[in-house]
Amino acid sequence: MNVYKIAVLPGDGIGTEITNEALKVLNTVQAHLGARFELESFDAGAERYLRTGLTMPEETFDHCKNADAILMGAIGLPEARHPDGREVNGDVIFRLRFDLDLYAGVRPVKLYDGIVSPLRDVSRGIDYVIVRENIEGLYASRTGGCNVRGEVATDTIIMTKTGIEKISRYAFRLAEKRKGRLSDGASMVTCVDKANVLSSYAYFRKVFDSVGDQFAAIKRDYVYVDAMTLFQVMNPQMFDVVVAENMFADIISDLSSATVGGLGMAPSGDIGDKHALFQPAHGTAPSIAGKNIANPYAMILSLSMMLNWLGDKHADDKLLAAGDGIEQAVKRILASGGAKTADIGGNSSTSDVGDAVVKALRESA
Ligand code: ATP
Ligand code: MG
Repeated sequence: MNVYKIAVLPGDGIGTEITNEALKVLNTVQAHLGARFELESFDAGAERYLRTGLTMPEETFDHCKNADAILMGAIGLPEARHPDGREVNGDVIFRLRFDLDLYAGVRPVKLYDGIVSPLRDVSRGIDYVIVRENIEGLYASRTGGCNVRGEVATDTIIMTKTGIEKISRYAFRLAEKRKGRLSDGASMVTCVDKANVLSSYAYFRKVFDSVGDQFAAIKRDYVYVDAMTLFQVMNPQMFDVVVAENMFADIISDLSSATVGGLGMAPSGDIGDKHALFQPAHGTAPSIAGKNIANPYAMILSLSMMLNWLGDKHADDKLLAAGDGIEQAVKRILASGGAKTADIGGNSSTSDVGDAVVKALRESA
């Protein structure tokens, strides 16, 4: 039996609460599906920074680097900032993204039966994936900038051929795996940019195309980011895999989560060629922390993504089945009117949801 080392970073705020629920689910998977996990939890985050002046010790980074995968709750608190004003969550998430080259931010956008979407007509469902370039783009500028006499500020967008090739390849390969999501049975990658105005985005599109040429079976589409926000609301069924630069993808993924039940329903993976980290797309939501009311579904679905990624990487069918099993359990609970937290219209607690997923998994084992 394979053994997988998982580094767990519960983090701050609701991060610790939702991580508890995900670990309940992981332990159930371990007991029923025969996979073996060595879990090690680490104290990293804003709380730690406030207590000790250090967000994440070097040793914890090394553990993350040596783990088979990283599972993270959420990190950051408004009051935890460096003297220059930067939030401390970057000490962990940017460090891991950059130094472990987690270049693909993968955000599935899926509407589950039983979740009310604010969109008027969702009879054809919502099911696409946003692939965010995680390392460069406009956010790579955040430590740069120019400020003449305190009255000018600039940022520089960074687009590299290597970076665009890597993220595009990831998107096309994902489309191959998701085969046949469009109404005509085809797979497609949509490039979201602003190629009509900015040369950096024109370059992004050009490199995207050069990669797309190597994937003849996958259709391509191009949408400007402004139009994108409209289509996400008016016609989300037109998407299969969507790829975009760092900041654009950040923005459109918040919008996408609103269409499928909100941040509490938005899982994510930060994935590289060797390493990967899984966490919900939301933050630490300090205003609802400590009350056992946060929605743990995004976290539990991130765990499902982690098992699928590990299963794929190690050609371990048991793990793939475990990852799918968790998602199926969530699907059944929501479709049958089971446990729901307040943000998705129910009155269950955080731990009620975790318990419901555990129960559903036991019943299907
Ligand atoms: P951060 O700065 O870490 O992003 P935040 O206060 O902006 O923290 P987010 O987690 O980004 O909080 O979410 C914004 C709001 O969305 C929260 O204040 C909360 O009301 C809601 N929210 C986010 N995640 C959840 C969740 N898992 N369950 C319930 N509500 C959530
Ligand atoms: Mg936020």
